Amino acid sequence: MILKISTTHQPTADLGYLLHKNPTRLHEETFPFGKGYVLFPEINDEKAEAALLLDVDPVGLVRGGSTYDQYVNDRPYAASSFISSAMLAFFSTAMSGRSKERQEVADQAIPLQFELPVIRMRSGGDFVRSLLEPLGYELEFQPVGGKYFNLKGSIRTRIRDFLTHLYILIPVIDDDKHYYVDRNEIDKLTNRAKDWLPSHPMKDAIIQKFLRYDRILTKEAIARLAEFEPDLDEVEVPGTDQEEKIEKKISLHTQRLEHVTAKLAELGATSVVDLGCGEGRLIQLLLKQRQFKKILGMDVCVRSLEFAARRLHLSDAGDALRNRLELVHGSLMYRDSRIAGFDAAAIVEVIEHLDLPRLAAFERVVFEFAKPQNVVLTTPNIEYNAVFETMAPGQLRHNDHRFEWTRAEFQAWCDSICQRFGYRVAIEGVGEPHPEYGSPSIMGVFTR
Ligand code: SAH
Repeated sequence: MILKISTTHQPTADLGYLLHKNPTRLHEETFPFGKGYVLFPEINDEKAEAALLLDVDPVGLVRGGSTYDQYVNDRPYAASSFISSAMLAFFSTAMSGRSKERQEVADQAIPLQFELPVIRMRSGGDFVRSLLEPLGYELEFQPVGGKYFNLKGSIRTRIRDFLTHLYILIPVIDDDKHYYVDRNEIDKLTNRAKDWLPSHPMKDAIIQKFLRYDRILTKEAIARLAEFEPDLDEVEVPGTDQEEKIEKKISLHTQRLEHVTAKLAELGATSVVDLGCGEGRLIQLLLKQRQFKKILGMDVCVRSLEFAARRLHLSDAGDALRNRLELVHGSLMYRDSRIAGFDAAAIVEVIEHLDLPRLAAFERVVFEFAKPQNVVLTTPNIEYNAVFETMAPGQLRHNDHRFEWTRAEFQAWCDSICQRFGYRVAIEGVGEPHPEYGSPSIMGVFTR
């Protein structure tokens, strides 16, 4: 079976750098289901093409105790989840968005095409259109017999999005999977597809098929992806007009960030440090208000900071922005003079990512050493999880959350901070409250 990937981006030789594969070599891997190869059949002035070839051993599959009961099956030639497994092995760096030699190209939307010479489109062409067209693909497909088609698509997007689209959607189109589906699959989905799946109109069907209709895993994945709901101002929803967009429910995270921005303004802060700033979404809102004259973002994750720098257009910023905004790499586990002396600190949905035993270090770093005049801190309210129908009891909202608190636990923690470090606190809910379970998030506003 084959997947072909091509681009007319200039210079065409960039494709090798983007895929992290030397085009002059044959790349080979051995899989439980057979052998895989990546090669570059064509690189000329106009076009570069890479091919992922799988030599599936149908007899070995049966002998190896896979679910196949027939020696004769379509697996050797029709694209399937084996392609996804092989993509992960060959292209994982490209799928994560990194390129050692051509990062600026990896970050750009470039013209890309794929061709799957044979794929089973079990649910038909309209279904395939509903998966790929909302992402921006132009499609062409020709029947090659029965439910098998030659499928081609072209798009302008970043290489990482293109590869993760194929990685997730090929098994969804084929509607079959050749390995045991477990919880790890949820991580693959949420990690690989978080940039585009949360806003995809067929999100639920994609998740369900990717997870082989496992009801519990599907529910969990839908709940986790809800954390990545997109900002309205960032996502162009194809085919919807402005009014529909405005009426669409504002995501919880956007509400939270707007609430925090309003609170910081109300406190009269002019200098703000955003601790655990992540991808810079709060900073983007703060920059819109002139009142905030000095903004510092800090995070422990370099990749998030790179993302933030791009979101905030720091690389081509003029002096005005550079004087106003800085992003630094650092950890809330260590005392750091760079974060001291601010009117206010924002700490939005960060503490639940810290191991509980290390929270004491965080408390001293922020409230004893950095000592901002005000601290606006939010964290999920675990009681509200009962409202998310898709969540299992005891499940936390995100796979990286180390804990989530009830409103009473949060209140007790805030009180102990105040006692030890000389702050007073006002606690509010963030987001539409439930009569019994309260708001989805809780916010403590500390003042010294
Ligand atoms: N405040 C952002 C991001 C929340 S996600 C927002 O609301 O959009 C939590 C962030 O905390 C992640 O970006 C993570 O990298 C960061 N983080 C986790 N542990 C940290 C630590 N020890 N020091 C600094 N940042 C940390």
